[in-house]
Amino acid sequence: MTWLRLPLLAVLTAVACAQAPSSKELESVYPDAHALYLDLHQNPELSAHETQTAAKLAARWRSAGYDVTEHVGGTGVVAILKNGPGPTIMLRTELDALPVEEKTGLPYASKVHAKDDAGHDVPVMHACGHDLHMASVLGTAEIMVRSKDTWHGTLMLIGQPAEETIGGAEGMIRDGLFTRFGKPDAAVALHVGNVFPAGMVAITPGIYNTNADSVHITIYGKGGHGASPQTTIDPIVIAARTILALQTIVSREVKPGEMAVVTVGYIQAGTKNNIIPDQAEMGLTIRTRKVDVRQQILAAIARISKAEAAAANAPREPLVERYEGADLVYNNPALAERLRAPLEAALGKDKVVTAEPVTPSEDFSYFVEQGVPGFYFSLGGADPEKLAQAKAAGTSLPSNHSPLFAPDVDPALRAGIVAEVAVLRNLLNASPEELRKLAAEQQVH
Ligand SMILES: [Zn+2]
Ligand SMILES: [Zn+2]
Repeated sequence: MTWLRLPLLAVLTAVACAQAPSSKELESVYPDAHALYLDLHQNPELSAHETQTAAKLAARWRSAGYDVTEHVGGTGVVAILKNGPGPTIMLRTELDALPVEEKTGLPYASKVHAKDDAGHDVPVMHACGHDLHMASVLGTAEIMVRSKDTWHGTLMLIGQPAEETIGGAEGMIRDGLFTRFGKPDAAVALHVGNVFPAGMVAITPGIYNTNADSVHITIYGKGGHGASPQTTIDPIVIAARTILALQTIVSREVKPGEMAVVTVGYIQAGTKNNIIPDQAEMGLTIRTRKVDVRQQILAAIARISKAEAAAANAPREPLVERYEGADLVYNNPALAERLRAPLEAALGKDKVVTAEPVTPSEDFSYFVEQGVPGFYFSLGGADPEKLAQAKAAGTSLPSNHSPLFAPDVDPALRAGIVAEVAVLRNLLNASPEELRKLAAEQQVH
């Protein structure tokens, strides 16, 4: 074979090129994907209420030829396409939108309002780009079903509810995602943002983001007249001391160089200037990258809160509650490096960059924690010209969750489909043993 005389890199590139979808393949699915994007963008639904969204996605996947199951972990959708022996690869999209009023001025801007879980009327917008993720997965799904001769194994698509409220991934796992449908050999997801120009992707091998913990503290005092403080125990003063003492966790207790954030995001107490209230409340967010640092900080918050209350002779210990949290997303390094070549071949070498870890949280980590090697990568969504102008002016474009978040849909959606197909074809040409080796490495982490 003349092949064997080629340098290894050329062979690898040739193999990777074969995994990129052709422009003909892309154009054959793009109108469908774009139409779904416009529909979803104009009809967003809040977390755990994505009934129409899930039904639309399920119908499209079903008519494409997938075996579809709805209502997995609430509104979750699972679509399976079997194509002979081989690995099982999962591709995930989120379904949910946010309580944000869209102010992009786009002709297809959302005008939707809905009732939130507290019964309040709120505006709803796909301000995190999950509509683009769903459209991309639809295009990818259609290409994969039409090109079964290019891969083997089982493709598992999932539409996950309630990512924004952190709970949807866990809900699907609890409802038997990996026992009813099989545990995948690798899990893949992307996220669009405005940091990189549309047409690009960014890879972060290893740690992708941070552990996030939300803590609520209630400090108890003894209320009374503001003019007679000697008859009271002032919870506002205890709260003020506590907030300052909490600052010493990162500066004095955590080892220098460890990533750690302790932010008191709100404090609420009192109603009137001459009344000392009987309690004060505050809310914290904690971000870390290591399990031991995370435990150290949570323990220090409880210890300091209790000690400050005791120092003030508070009638009761404060209540310190960790009410939600998400673990960091870990990108299997070997998997990330394996997938760089097919992404470069599909999008162009200069369109694939390595990015630093970020701080926002994400519940894709629940899938990875089941022992599934994960690959979570960033999809550029910024209009290249606007991004260059913003950079020149020293500013940035409206980020995810902003009322002005508006990805450059055409190039971003095309790149999303191309990237997903290239990644899936690469993994669905691997042997399950190769991928199992990655999983074994994951245990070490
Ligand atoms: Zn978001
Ligand atoms: Zn998001």
